[in-house]
Amino acid sequence: MSALRQVRGWLSAKRRFQFCLTLVMVTGLTAACGALLMLPNSVLPKIRAVVPGGDALVATDPQVSALHRLMDSYGKVISEPVGTGAGKVGVVLGHPARSGDMDVLAAELSAATTAVSAVWGSDWSQAPVVVVASSPAEFAALTNETGAVPAEVAAATVADPFHPGAQPTGQRVVFGSEAGRRLGPDGLRSVLRHELTHVATRAVTVDRSPQWMLEGFAEYVAHRGMRQPIEEVAPTLTTRARAGTLPADLPADAAFEPASGEAAAVYEQAWSACAFIADQFGEAQLVSLYRQLATGPKDNAAVAAIVQNTLAIGYPDLLARWHSWITARTTPGA
Ligand SMILES: [Zn+2]
Repeated sequence: MSALRQVRGWLSAKRRFQFCLTLVMVTGLTAACGALLMLPNSVLPKIRAVVPGGDALVATDPQVSALHRLMDSYGKVISEPVGTGAGKVGVVLGHPARSGDMDVLAAELSAATTAVSAVWGSDWSQAPVVVVASSPAEFAALTNETGAVPAEVAAATVADPFHPGAQPTGQRVVFGSEAGRRLGPDGLRSVLRHELTHVATRAVTVDRSPQWMLEGFAEYVAHRGMRQPIEEVAPTLTTRARAGTLPADLPADAAFEPASGEAAAVYEQAWSACAFIADQFGEAQLVSLYRQLATGPKDNAAVAAIVQNTLAIGYPDLLARWHSWITARTTPGA
C-alpha cells in the first residue's frame, strides 16, 4: 500500500468515528416548554420559508415551535424547511455559525428520507426534524443528556417516551457542533441517513435489542446505493480481513460503546453483517430479521432461533457464509 493510500485509509478510518446515541427520555424540553405548549397555536412563531411558486413551507412536526424557543437561548435560530414528498415538510434548524452544515443537510433531507423509505417502507413520519447544535451545552440540552457526551458522538436521535405500537413523538436528529468539521459533507450525508433510519424504525424498536442489528441496519441504509468501495465503508474490517483476521462472532452490545476502543471496527462489522444478509438473502429478509430481533434483549439462543426461522439457516452456517462474503469482497482485485 502506498503512503498516499495509507493516509487516505487513515483519514477515512478517522471519519468513521461517527457513533450515535439513540435515546428515549422524558423530555426536559417538554417540561421546560410546558407553558409555551399551552399557548394557542396562533401565538407560537411560525417557521416558514418562501419557495419558488409562492407557497410557504411549514414544518409538519408539532415539536418545532418548542425547539425553536429552546434554541433561541443559544443564539439566533435559522430554519430551512424542506419538502420531503407526499405533502410532508421536514426542517433543519440551527444557528448562523453552522449554516454550511445546515445547507448540506437541508439539500440532502428529501433524498435521505426517500432512501430510508426505499428500504423500510413509508410507515413513518417522513417529515424529519434535524437540528445542528452550536455548542456541547446546546447538544446536551437538545438531547436531554445530563452527563458529558463523548466527543466521538457526532449525532443523536431522541424521542419522547412512547408505548410500543404507538407512533413515537418528539423525534429529532441532533448533530453535534463539531460534526460537520470532523465528518465533512459526505460524512454528514451518511450520518443523516443512519439517524433517519433510527427515526423510521423507532416505532418497532425496543431498547436493548441486539445492537449489531440496530446499528448495522442503520449503517446499511446509510451506505446503500452510494457505490463506495468496501475499503471506504469498512476500512478496519478490510485491513484486518486482508491480514487474515475475521470477526469471531457478531459483535456483542458492549463493544458498541465508544469507551470499548473497538467501536469503529464494530460498527463496520455490523454494517457488513447486514450488507451480507441483504446481498445473499434479499433486502426484505433483512427487514424481516430486523423486525423480529428488535423486540427486546435477546440471548444467543434466541438470535439463533430467529435467524433459523427467518433465513432458514443455522447460526454457525450464517457466520461461515458471512466470513466467506467478507473474504471475497476484501480480496484485492476481486
Ligand atoms: Zn446508530
